[in-house]
Amino acid sequence: MKYDVVIIGSGLGGLLCANILAKEGYNVCLVEKNSRLGGSLQSFGRKGCIFNTGLNYTESLDNGQILNQYFRYFGLMDRLKLKRLDENGFDIISLPSGKYPLAIGHENFRETLLRRFPGENDGLTSYLKNIRNICDSISLYNLSEKPFNILMSSSMATGAADFIRSVISNETLRNVVAGNNLMYAGHEKKTPLLFHALINNSFIESAWRVTDGSNVMIKTLEENIESSGGTILKNTKAVRFTSGGGTLRTLVTGTGQEIEARWFISATHPEQLLSMTDQLRVSGAFAFRIKKLEDTIGMFSMYLVFKKDSFPYLNYNFYHYDRENTWVAGDYDPGKWPQNYVLMCTADSGADTYSRSASVLTYMSFGELKKWENTVTGCRGEDYEEFKKEKCEKLFDSVERQFPGIRSCVSTCYSSTPLTWRDYTGTRAGSAFGLLKDYNSPMESIILPKTKIPNLFLTGQNTNMHGILGVTISAVLTCGEIVDIRNLIRKIKNA
Ligand SMILES: Cc1cc2nc3c(=O)[nH]c(=O)nc-3n(C[C@H](O)[C@H](O)[C@H](O)COP(=O)(O)OP(=O)(O)OC[C@H]3O[C@@H](n4cnc5c(N)ncnc54)[C@H](O)[C@@H]3O)c2cc1C
Repeated sequence: MKYDVVIIGSGLGGLLCANILAKEGYNVCLVEKNSRLGGSLQSFGRKGCIFNTGLNYTESLDNGQILNQYFRYFGLMDRLKLKRLDENGFDIISLPSGKYPLAIGHENFRETLLRRFPGENDGLTSYLKNIRNICDSISLYNLSEKPFNILMSSSMATGAADFIRSVISNETLRNVVAGNNLMYAGHEKKTPLLFHALINNSFIESAWRVTDGSNVMIKTLEENIESSGGTILKNTKAVRFTSGGGTLRTLVTGTGQEIEARWFISATHPEQLLSMTDQLRVSGAFAFRIKKLEDTIGMFSMYLVFKKDSFPYLNYNFYHYDRENTWVAGDYDPGKWPQNYVLMCTADSGADTYSRSASVLTYMSFGELKKWENTVTGCRGEDYEEFKKEKCEKLFDSVERQFPGIRSCVSTCYSSTPLTWRDYTGTRAGSAFGLLKDYNSPMESIILPKTKIPNLFLTGQNTNMHGILGVTISAVLTCGEIVDIRNLIRKIKNA
């Protein structure tokens, strides 16, 4: 059977492309190497508790806001049970000098921080005006039908930290407004203003948790594909392509099955794609570029199961830094681990007063895991388990300083490292958010959906931007290479 489109990888990027194209009448086949769909979008259960992996909180879901409109189009708004985070502090930024809230709503954000930094009215006003203008200027962030212009934006060639420094005078406040940069592995000397602005503005508009885990998103998107006649192949690893006449002809899977299609979309880390196109000898310059590009740092995650009614449900994310500078990724030091962390309670329909579970995330470089790089999940040996245990103890020590007694509330603790992410999602060196975007070389660090092979496209967090909103926009952009993008945007607007 010949498909119209084969999509490799069922993370959010692959799932959304399959949804759009199946809805548009294309015969799609979604290929996933794992037994479960969703990639980083998955939630999982332990001891009756739910843990999210890569959707801890999301943004702009109020009526009329951008992700709300996209989610309506995908049939998600009616299916998700959403919990709005604390209006007056959806993120708390904890520094040695104090704890500072980031509030929902532009005016509220400004007023809340002004109480702590009374001299910064002009700085905060200018900061908010600029980040909103940047969002308004990027077409798919406001569903305008103008060509997508991320590379044309001057904010792609401006540093986020430099911009913040230029509008805000107080050093502490500068660090506070950048204080959730752990969620984009912010780099003081590399992160473009564009990325900081799109992320922060969207979260300031409104910030939410998905109650009872993100799996309902995967299930909805899976059902949509199937009800539109699409095919989903789980446990099917994409291994290589065959070609003819300068285009791809079939995808060959790990079991030797050949899947023929007119178009192919890779929703994996681009380095995965290199191994698949290796033998085609058509990707020399692309391969060189991908190999040269840096990835974002990986994450160590600690998953906590709380004893019944022992730890309060915190309706905010708690970002802690050991020093006043919140830009940690650029000078990450394993000797000082953990330099930062974010603690996030799981939204759970049965737990409003007390938390049943929480996740704590902090950076971890792949270098610390070299010893086990040739092992696979579940078979890394006793010393790896010991390493993780020691890391959990250290992270607990740090968390205890802000939440005295938290250890005694925990009945079980699980953990994962960048190796887990590498093996599970196929991302290079377990990078959390894929390729690092660098304002010093914007053209090189942004990968566009189009490739040199006319019927091969890319999508997911490595093109455009990571995160739920970023990957959603990537999917629209990628599908716009196959369908009429203006028509698609109109449908999304009218959903
Ligand atoms: C720890 C962590 C926390 C996060 N928290 C948030 C958050 O709170 N909010 C937010 O907005 N974003 C968050 N993110 C980011 C967000 O989860 C990701 O940007 C997004 O889910 C990435 O989707 P993707 O489709 O690009 O890639 P992935 O989810 O990595 O999907 C890639 C898929 O491709 C499959 N695959 C790979 N190779 C092959 C192959 N050869 N054959 C077949 N299949 C293959 C993989 O198995 C996987 O299913 C977080 C990320 C991390 C790591």
